[in-house]
Amino acid sequence: MRRKLIVQKFGGSSVADVKRIKNVAKRVVSYAKKGCDLVVVVSALGDTTDELIELANKINPEPSEREMDMLLSTGEQISVALLAMAIHKLGFEAISFTGAQVGIITDSSHTRARILKINTDKIKEELNNGRIVIVAGFQGATLNQDITTLGRGGSDLTAVALAKELGADECEIYTDVKGIYTTDPRIEPKARKIEEITYDEMLEMASLGAQVMQARSIEVAKKFNVPIHVRSSFSKDIGTMIIKEVKIMEEVVVSGITLNKNQAKITICNVPDRPGVASMIFKELSGSGINVDMIVQNVSHLRQTDISFTVNKTDVSKATKIIRSVARGIRAGEVLLDEDIARISIVGVGMKSHHGVAATMFSVLAKNKVNIEMISTSDISLSCVIKKKFAEKAVKALHKEFGLTK
Ligand code: ASP
Ligand code: MG
Repeated sequence: MRRKLIVQKFGGSSVADVKRIKNVAKRVVSYAKKGCDLVVVVSALGDTTDELIELANKINPEPSEREMDMLLSTGEQISVALLAMAIHKLGFEAISFTGAQVGIITDSSHTRARILKINTDKIKEELNNGRIVIVAGFQGATLNQDITTLGRGGSDLTAVALAKELGADECEIYTDVKGIYTTDPRIEPKARKIEEITYDEMLEMASLGAQVMQARSIEVAKKFNVPIHVRSSFSKDIGTMIIKEVKIMEEVVVSGITLNKNQAKITICNVPDRPGVASMIFKELSGSGINVDMIVQNVSHLRQTDISFTVNKTDVSKATKIIRSVARGIRAGEVLLDEDIARISIVGVGMKSHHGVAATMFSVLAKNKVNIEMISTSDISLSCVIKKKFAEKAVKALHKEFGLTK
């Protein structure tokens, strides 16, 4: 009989110090004792990646992306080696590899590379030798052997992709929280751990601001139907299963509420209302690699209109600079910047088949005297931009209204 194969991924906080690395080693070994084959993916220790980025920026504020990947990939190389040593100390066989060494081949878009292919021969060979295989998350290499990274939080993607490629029986993502919650428990202590959530909802929540898993990794899990178990590395409790369809889908309308305070709103006033203008504006932004999230264009009076959109705070100065120059070019008016906003979203597959959800959300905000500045929808989510100071209050009120409270 084939042995059970488990892919486990441990995030940065789970391996932040010596004690935690030893703790992870113990957990991994406990599965090995049960007779499982194990492939373990590890992130960089604690905040290593952030620290390396900071260091690079001190040397050169615009570092080459190739060199950035050379630098950042070292974080994970440290953790895999240390974890292997910790497992050896417990008397078990383990061997660590970089992404490149285990044949994770990517394209050459440095700092956000896509996985093209994984050659699993080496991993399988080591598993057959009875070793626990430890793989550096977040990285791969191009066919030319240039080291690449998979975007922030990319160790999740490494784990999901390996689980798919190896046909693993389970894919566990270990983190510092007990699973996916109905909303951030730091904001609402009455938030509940969700037992099962669909890929679509998780994807929506990840892109709307829930920070438990990298959005790209969920996309891959969905595409290949890889069930994911998100759980805490500090407890034995069962966490949240991310799967295709959940059993109780029928009764739940809203599954979770997310809050994103990392956006800013840019408004271009008095934009001439003629074909091609919006395309000019957003082409310039996307050409500079800036992601635009919500967009609102008002009805035009006197052939002029205001256009507002949101971008990530990290892109604000770059975006305003571009927009000011575009605005001059198209003879639009003033460009206004508002960094004092929050985006609050409700997410649930049940929203597809229930009506009145938007009305409920708006009335909750109205009752709490919260003004809505922008609205956007998808078939399983509804988002409003509001003033930042109302964010926590709004999250709590919505959490209660949609029956998510413990
Ligand atoms: N260490 C990388 C990051 O912090 C990758 C990861 O943690 O998954 O983004
Ligand atoms: Mg990390």
